[in-house]
Amino acid sequence: MMLKLNDPVTKLSGVGPQLASKLERVHVRTVQDVLFHLPHRYEDKTTVSPIGALLPEMSSVVIGKIDLAQVVFGRRRSLLVKISDGTGSLTIRMFHFNRAQEKSFQRGLWVRAFGEARRGAKGLELIHPEYRVSADEPQGGLDTTLTPVYPTTDGVSQLLWRKLSDQVLSSAFTDLNELIDRRCLPPQMQQAYEAASLQQALATLHRPNADLNMAAMQQANSAAHQRLIMEELLAHHFSLRKTKDLRGRDRAPVLEPDQSVNQRFLANLSFSLTGAQQRVCKEVTEDLMTQTPTMRLVQGDVGSGKTVVAAMAMLQAASCHVQTVLMAPTELLAEQHFQTLSAWFNELGIEVGWLASKTPAKQKRDTIARLANGELLVAVGTHALIQEAVDYRLLGLVVIDEQHRFGVEQRLALRAKTPKGQVPHQLVMTATPIPRTLAMTFYADLDVSSIDELPPGRKAVETVVIPAQSRRDEVIQRVLAACQQGRQVYWVCPLIEESEALEAQAATDTAEELSDALKSLNVGLVHGRLKPKDKEQVMARFRAGELDLLVATTVIEVGVDVPNASLMVIENAERMGLAQLHQLRGRVGRGREQSFCILLYHTPLSQHARERLKTLRETNDGFVIAQKDLEIRGAGELLGTRQTGSISFKVADLIRDQHLLPSVEGSAKKLLKLTPQHVDALIERWVGSKENYVNA
Ligand code: ADP
Ligand code: MG
Repeated sequence: MMLKLNDPVTKLSGVGPQLASKLERVHVRTVQDVLFHLPHRYEDKTTVSPIGALLPEMSSVVIGKIDLAQVVFGRRRSLLVKISDGTGSLTIRMFHFNRAQEKSFQRGLWVRAFGEARRGAKGLELIHPEYRVSADEPQGGLDTTLTPVYPTTDGVSQLLWRKLSDQVLSSAFTDLNELIDRRCLPPQMQQAYEAASLQQALATLHRPNADLNMAAMQQANSAAHQRLIMEELLAHHFSLRKTKDLRGRDRAPVLEPDQSVNQRFLANLSFSLTGAQQRVCKEVTEDLMTQTPTMRLVQGDVGSGKTVVAAMAMLQAASCHVQTVLMAPTELLAEQHFQTLSAWFNELGIEVGWLASKTPAKQKRDTIARLANGELLVAVGTHALIQEAVDYRLLGLVVIDEQHRFGVEQRLALRAKTPKGQVPHQLVMTATPIPRTLAMTFYADLDVSSIDELPPGRKAVETVVIPAQSRRDEVIQRVLAACQQGRQVYWVCPLIEESEALEAQAATDTAEELSDALKSLNVGLVHGRLKPKDKEQVMARFRAGELDLLVATTVIEVGVDVPNASLMVIENAERMGLAQLHQLRGRVGRGREQSFCILLYHTPLSQHARERLKTLRETNDGFVIAQKDLEIRGAGELLGTRQTGSISFKVADLIRDQHLLPSVEGSAKKLLKLTPQHVDALIERWVGSKENYVNA
């Protein structure tokens, strides 16, 4: 059959409307989408491994004779089947099984199984492997290529993906054009292009020959991989640039600053702006004076003073009688901004509204009504600002603090909030700096400003790493000593991801323990389960210096600002990520005193945890930490759904392929010059319909 790339998937045999709608869920609509729907990993079923040669985390085919099969009742009922092949033995373990399966495993029969070996209590285990039981020793039946595993969705099996990709791979396309002129690429990349045509490269990724070993496929350094990765990186880069260009067609209100209001604002501050703050304020001011909607990321390390920059921008909007909101990811942080901004703005006769999901209904209705009729010019809050049925009279500026918690969906929701034809300016504040190469390539749609200077007199926080089991008492004594010198202390309890309730309980227990051990101190407690009013009351008392020690869960991760606090203890620091620890640590070191951070950990430490703690001990520099974070953790999280909500790659991996990033921008420039007519097709091919989502 002759297929064209633009044919709908229903052209493929076996694809009806029902399957087509399932494929739509993974953005596969056309034949081209199937061709570019690439495996995200491979399984090697081309050879049989001796059981004795298996290592944990290895996925292999094994063949063995059943020595024993039994149902055991441990914490969970499970079926255990012990098999051996003369080189060693392992256990197949199943938690879900029926009578027929249970009976099929008979001592003396043969099993061929494929799965990932895991370390069990008594040697290696395969949990729910693919398997087949036979009376005779299985022969042959091995695959001749590595088995591709495709990203998928409910109701579309791997077998089905293989059938679909078989069809497109066997079609001779006349319209599978090379969209990249290789002269625009760096020399080593040009070689990759000579070594494999687009069609060959795609075939290699879909059906790798067994002689391409798994390691090579995983590292993705074949010519086939390299050229596809480069194309994908370029396509995303172009897509973001296009988003930015499209934004140029939208209109936002032109906001002229009022110099006399600005001067009054600055005169009221208890400090003067740092050079970096002044520079960034100027960049933002100029953005807001244009009718192109601003989309600027303001990055600055914790404590660099982003709030005042946001406030100046909001003042610019309010001076023009245009509405502006500040959104923060947590209620605690939003409340603090509310207080800071109220203090600054009320002096200038500007009222600040407050809106969060837990705000009492009557007050909420009132605020919403006053936002709708334009009486309120400034509001601070959480997502409630966009989730509730709020209609703004004229929303001109949105400031989002600690942006890594906001996804694209929220940004889009915001756009929908504005009257037709008007798009608000957006300012996103983040303390997680984005390494330069990434920023140039993958934030091509944002303008970036950096507050790269801390307010004067700040001393770097001194960080120590201490095993909790043996030296907890010593740490408690240090807390006492700090408080006796008039300082205040945070004690951060472990992160328990699965359960806010358990986390709250752990914090409550710790607060009790510390109150008992430190009878002379006033101890406060905040956690996510407290009523907002109670939470705010505790925070207010801590800020006022009435509490010496604040026991908290990671709810205080972002933004909380109490300059007199000079010691922070973090329990189970080994469970937290680098960025999170850096954020937490940023709660101290805000005053003139030397501050300390004590990271308590429990052994044994994983390799990554050890590296994270070491990094924190060695540096306070947010940029260095972000780079390290990128290396240790992978770009997935940094850039993934949490941050952009849109970028997911088919073959590229921003960590593994970071050596390619520096050449993306330059190559893109050359391509734009030489073959601008191919750019849209390239985006369509690699980013496809997701682009609509970004541009929506
Ligand atoms: P972040 O960038 O982490 O959001 P904040 O805006 O909370 O930082 O500022 C941290 C602290 O530094 C606040 O107490 C703020 O008032 C203070 N601050 C901000 N700018 C300056 C400055 N130029 N000089 C002195 N202190 C400042
Ligand atoms: Mg902040």
